Amino acid sequence: MVSYDLLLKGGLVVDPKNNVEEVLDIAVRDGKIVEVAGELDARKAKSVVNVEGKIVFPGVIDTHVHIRGLGHKMMAKAGVITAFDFGSPVERIVSDIKIYGTGLNVAFLTNIRSYYPDAGESLSDEQISEAVSRAAREGALGIKITGGHRPFTPETTARIIEECNRQGVYIAFHVGTTETGSDINGLIEAVELAGDNGLHIAHVNSYCRGLIDDPIVEALKALRHLAGKRNIASESYLATINGTGGRCVNGVPVSKVTRNCLRLGGYPETYDGLKRAILDGYAFVRVEAGGEVILVTGEEGLKYWLEAETDIGLSFPVNDPEAQIILATAKDAYGDFIVDAISTDGGAIPRNVAVEKGMLLVKFGALTLSELAMKLSLNPAKLMGLESKGHLGVGADADITVVDPVSCKAYMGIARGEIIMIDGVVVGHGGFILTSKYGEEAIRKTGIPYSIIDISKTKIYAGRSS
Ligand SMILES: [Zn+2]
Repeated sequence: MVSYDLLLKGGLVVDPKNNVEEVLDIAVRDGKIVEVAGELDARKAKSVVNVEGKIVFPGVIDTHVHIRGLGHKMMAKAGVITAFDFGSPVERIVSDIKIYGTGLNVAFLTNIRSYYPDAGESLSDEQISEAVSRAAREGALGIKITGGHRPFTPETTARIIEECNRQGVYIAFHVGTTETGSDINGLIEAVELAGDNGLHIAHVNSYCRGLIDDPIVEALKALRHLAGKRNIASESYLATINGTGGRCVNGVPVSKVTRNCLRLGGYPETYDGLKRAILDGYAFVRVEAGGEVILVTGEEGLKYWLEAETDIGLSFPVNDPEAQIILATAKDAYGDFIVDAISTDGGAIPRNVAVEKGMLLVKFGALTLSELAMKLSLNPAKLMGLESKGHLGVGADADITVVDPVSCKAYMGIARGEIIMIDGVVVGHGGFILTSKYGEEAIRKTGIPYSIIDISKTKIYAGRSS
C-alpha cells in the first residue's frame, strides 16, 4: 500500500515552469516528485505533512553564496536547497559538508587567486590555463574572478574568461580590473571584456551603490548593458549589507571594496578610518555566536577586529534598496527578467534573505508569486543547467521550499526528498555535490554523494548556441 515516502498536503503549489498556481498535494518517492494532484491518498504515504495555508515553491537555488561552515545551517534555515558557492577551495567545500552539512546541494567555483596568492595584476597564459583545468579537475564547476577586491589587468581578465570558455568550464566575475573598479563602469567593462564569450556577472546590485552616479541611474544603466545578452548570466541580492574583509597592510585596507565603503561613508580609506567606522557603527564585524554568524559593531566589534589582527570579515550597509528593487524586478521587451536570479551573496554572511525579501516584494505588488518562483528557482536552475530542478513536475528532483505567507519566511526545506528544515529547526546533515564530468573522479573520492552537471547547458553557454 505504501507508495510515497512523503506527502505534502494542501499547500499552494507555485510552479511557473508547469504553469501551476493552485492548491495541490505533492507526493515524493526516492528523492523525486512522483505525483501532483488535487487530493492524494494519505494512507499511501510513510509520512504526511499538512502545509495548508503555506506556499510550496520549487526548492530555492541560491546562485551566489559563501558557505564557510555555519553557512550550511544559515542557508537551510532560510529555505535554500541548492547553494552555488563563489570561491571556496575544494578542501573547504568537502570538509564543511562533512562537519557542518545540512543536506544542501552544493556546487562551487574556485577563486583563481587562490592558486596564485602572491601574483600581481597579471597572469601568464600558462598560469591561466593550468588554473582553469585544475579547478575543474578538483570538482569546481569553474572559476571565480574577484576583480572588485584584488583586480587583474583587463588583458588578464579577458584571457581568463576566454580560457574558461575554451575549456568549457563555468566563469563568474565580481567585476573590476586595474582600469575600473567594483562599480557600474566595471560592469560595463565586464560586458565588453566578455565579448561573445559566456560570463556570469556576480551581484549586479553591488555595482549600483552610487560610487559613480545616482544608484537608480546606475541600476538603469546596468540593465541597459545586460538586456538581450544571452551569453551573460547575472544575479542580484536584496540585503542592505555587503560582505568584505577588514585586513589592513601598511595602514591601508587591502580590499578595494572596503576602501570604497569607507569613501561612501565619508571615512578616510585607511586603518584609522576603518577603526573609526567600526566604532561609529558604520562597519560591522562578522563573528560566530549561537551556531550562526552575527554582526557586531562599536566597541565590541573593534575588539574582535583587533583580536583578529584586522583579518576578519566585515559588512557595511551600502546597498541601495531602490536600485535593488529595480534590478530584482526589471524585464526586457520580451517579458523576461534582465537579471536572471535573486541571490543572496550570503551563506556565512548573515544576509540569507532572498525568500523573506522576495515575499515582501510580492506583498508590495512588485512580483507575482510565480515571478518570485522564477527568480528564486526556475531561472537559477536554467542558469546552472539543472533540468531536473527549478520546478515541481513529476520526475523532478524533490527539492522543495515551503514558505509561510504571514511571516514571509521559509517554513520547511526538502532536499532530494528529505526534510532538512522544519519550522526554523535545521534537521538535515551531510550534503550532495553538483560537479562536472571533469571533477567526477575527485568528488567520487570524497565519499560525498554527487551528480554531474553538463556545463554546456548552463545559461552562459546554452544561451550562446541557441
Ligand atoms: Zn560573493
